[in-house]
Amino acid sequence: AQRNPGQPEYLQAVTEVMESLWPFIEKHPKYTENSLLERLVEAERTIMFRVSWIDDKGHVQVNRGFRIQHSMAIGPYKGGLRFHPSVNLSVLKFLAFEQTFKNALTTLPMGGAKGGSDFDPKGKSPTEVMRFCQAFVSELARHIGPDTDVPAGDIGVGGREVGFMAGMYKKLTNSSACVFTGKGLAFGGSLIRPEATGYGTVYFAQEMLKTRGQSFDGLTVSVSGSGNVAQYAVEKAMALGAKVVTVSDSSGTVYDKAGFDAEKLALLMDVKNHRYGRVSDYAALVPGVEFLAGQTPWGIKVDVALPCATQNELNLEDAKTLMANGVRCVAEGANMPATIEAAKAFEAAGVLYAPGKASNAGGVATSGLEMCQNSARLSWPAEEVDGRLLQIMQGIHAACLKHGQRADGTVSYIDGANVAGFVKIADAMIAQGVL
Ligand code: NDP
Repeated sequence: AQRNPGQPEYLQAVTEVMESLWPFIEKHPKYTENSLLERLVEAERTIMFRVSWIDDKGHVQVNRGFRIQHSMAIGPYKGGLRFHPSVNLSVLKFLAFEQTFKNALTTLPMGGAKGGSDFDPKGKSPTEVMRFCQAFVSELARHIGPDTDVPAGDIGVGGREVGFMAGMYKKLTNSSACVFTGKGLAFGGSLIRPEATGYGTVYFAQEMLKTRGQSFDGLTVSVSGSGNVAQYAVEKAMALGAKVVTVSDSSGTVYDKAGFDAEKLALLMDVKNHRYGRVSDYAALVPGVEFLAGQTPWGIKVDVALPCATQNELNLEDAKTLMANGVRCVAEGANMPATIEAAKAFEAAGVLYAPGKASNAGGVATSGLEMCQNSARLSWPAEEVDGRLLQIMQGIHAACLKHGQRADGTVSYIDGANVAGFVKIADAMIAQGVL
């Protein structure tokens, strides 16, 4: 805490990982040699920079840009960019740390990074967003490269923003090497990348349910958020026979007792992705749905909860409410949406609970597949990418079961994900010497 003052999210992420790893490390003391743990919690490189850009009124705006290159131990730095006013060093350091473990879990050779800016895309015109993206990349460009660091999207950064940044990068470097993932299909993007995080989260939850002889068919599901991850989590859960009754954003929750169908989901996507509207705008267009202003979805009775919005959106009280209402499975599509207390409460009560670094790894895994396709100058059919995504999620689930077995026969997905990711990174660090 003394080395990272004022960084609560970063300390939270490190505490969660270290507490869960500790029993394993005590049994394997080689992992404490040569200050390995101290090195692992210190990012290899932290870049902060000014981003100046001109708004539509001709005024100069100034934002702060970041890239945290946490670990290159197992491959080039890899992780998304977040544009949101809440972005700061603590948030991005926690995300880069988590990303390092998540990327190790995918089994693909990718190190961990995260970046972004406190720029708020809400209310900005498309040309303002473009000018901001170009200004951001004009500095970031010197720090990234296809074998150095390959960013992608995250909150506030979707296909449109990745396109603007990839375009500017090409212009600056005269190179079309793969330096962003989540690109448009016309210029090297991968089929299924937009769907991958949401689909992957549902695939992971499906594997969890299978361990208890259950499936999504007929279950009621709540989803939080209404962005990229949430939309495709809704789509896949519906496809597997579930009734999805909520989506949300920072203004409140849409509660749809009858459940989403394909037509409603298409409308939600149109409102969010093309009109850049709010879920309240969507609710106003659909008869029979309620808009619960200022509320999260966690008060609603469901079998499965998929938090897909942001960090710390589900606290201990929410966990207690969900459990009192009979929730049986919670799989995180977002990064660290449950607080440590909430996550522990789920595990203690025997609720199937998956931390984001395991259940939302499908997005970065498919980014890894986009990198493979770009290197091979090929593009694979959707079925092939989706098939590989499913296999990767099943592989991560199996790794969690293997490393998360407790003496009493139960499984901790928290421990499983942390230990499985850690062993790979730590072994790579040991093999490459003290750096
Ligand atoms: P989007 O920007 O597409 O959507 C974010 C959603 O979360 C929006 O509905 C947004 O609502 C809501 N949200 C953001 N901040 C808050 C807040 N403070 N309180 C309540 N709601 C909030 O982002 P993504 O869907 O890409 O990302 C969602 C989560 O998934 C993040 O945690 C991200 O790190 C994680 N993730 C994303 C991956 C990806 O491939 N995109 C990969 C792995 C993890 P509003 O519009 O009101 O802000």
